[in-house]
Amino acid sequence: MPADAISSNILSFEDARRLVERHASQIKPPATESVPLLQSLGRVLAEEIRADRDFPPFPRATRDGYAVLASDLKTTPASLEIIGEIKAGDAIPRVQNVRSGQAVSIMTGAPVPAGADAVVMVEFAATNGQTVTINRSVAARENIVAMGSEARRGDILLFAGHRLGYAEIGAAAATGRDPVIVFRKPRIAVLATGDEIVDLHETPGYSQIRNSNSHSLAAQIVVAGGEPVLLPIAPDEPKRLRELIVQGATCDLLLLAGGVSMGRYDLVEDALQDLGAEFLFTGVRIQPGRPAVFGRWNAVVNSEKYFFGLPGNPVSTMVTFELFARPTIEGLAGMLPRKLIFLHARLKSPISVKPGLKRFLPAMLSGEFENATAELIPWQGSGDLTAIATANCYIVISPQQENIEAGEWVPLLLR
Ligand code: AMP
Ligand code: MG
Repeated sequence: MPADAISSNILSFEDARRLVERHASQIKPPATESVPLLQSLGRVLAEEIRADRDFPPFPRATRDGYAVLASDLKTTPASLEIIGEIKAGDAIPRVQNVRSGQAVSIMTGAPVPAGADAVVMVEFAATNGQTVTINRSVAARENIVAMGSEARRGDILLFAGHRLGYAEIGAAAATGRDPVIVFRKPRIAVLATGDEIVDLHETPGYSQIRNSNSHSLAAQIVVAGGEPVLLPIAPDEPKRLRELIVQGATCDLLLLAGGVSMGRYDLVEDALQDLGAEFLFTGVRIQPGRPAVFGRWNAVVNSEKYFFGLPGNPVSTMVTFELFARPTIEGLAGMLPRKLIFLHARLKSPISVKPGLKRFLPAMLSGEFENATAELIPWQGSGDLTAIATANCYIVISPQQENIEAGEWVPLLLR
């Protein structure tokens, strides 16, 4: 029985992205597991990390020098009596109290003794061993980080849902946390479709193309925090396609690649519809990636699940993954989906495009330090894998723009 016609719902880029983010932010967090801190890079925290003591746990000297009373140095040079030395890691406080007229030799990272309220850098001091002559005034609290000023014991340093990067791992380590509780990675099914697509280990025939999409998608899934599950290639034949979709639907998310355009053998949308899919959008006014499809179903499996039908041209597959599938994977991984970050650079060579679509064109950001400029990479359209592999960013062009001059600021997304 033919499926009912699928009603077309083509959105602007911004509406499509907001829709995906809204759905992603409502996904229930997954189950948790415990992992050693050293293996937690890129994982999503499932627990809060709280300060187990004050940060810093004592007033910390940030310079090598002398702990003093700032009021003793109102006029300089001033001579002070050295009453002791404190270094980082001393087992017991070596000096109990510093009084007016006294100084304590102190090292970076050591606790500033009671009474002292500033540290003078060693560069401004001369000593004979017993006394120190200081030729520079200091303000109270200079070169001291007050106890608990970074965080108080019990303060939350990292929230559940935070993805662990190197700084987060540093913060967890500082509180003595190992192992950490993280969310399980969502399993993301990848289904490449097309009669012309062959496995990369096969020798392609005259009109055959190696399956690059499953592999680039698998890599994108890993970067996004998911675990890829590669299905066999689906032919452009409804029965087998349907079988593989049902298989993919057992994962947390299904990504299809190819077969969503208007061609006679683009069968993906019909197959999804037959399985009870609800389409949230059936296209986005972007280039590359216009035919991208987003939807959900609950007929195939008990719990509600999402799917994306990404266009099969490799650059379109990659771009639509980053723009739309990625936030969903972040949601499934227990994160709040991250906002897209657009950088800006000056354009190196002018661009002319037909208006009407939001474009994400492969580009190269180059130059030294703060003086980077961006320019398009010549490409043969959304099938051009070599262009995207050379690019390090996408220049983003709004649908109203036709001509952009060299020297103008353009937004870009890093690749
Ligand atoms: P489709 O979206 O199915 O119309 O495919 C568009 C173009 O992308 C065609 O030229 C396909 O050969 C190519 N293509 C589709 N799937 C893949 C894949 N898995 N790997 C590489 N190229 C693909
Ligand atoms: Mg196809």
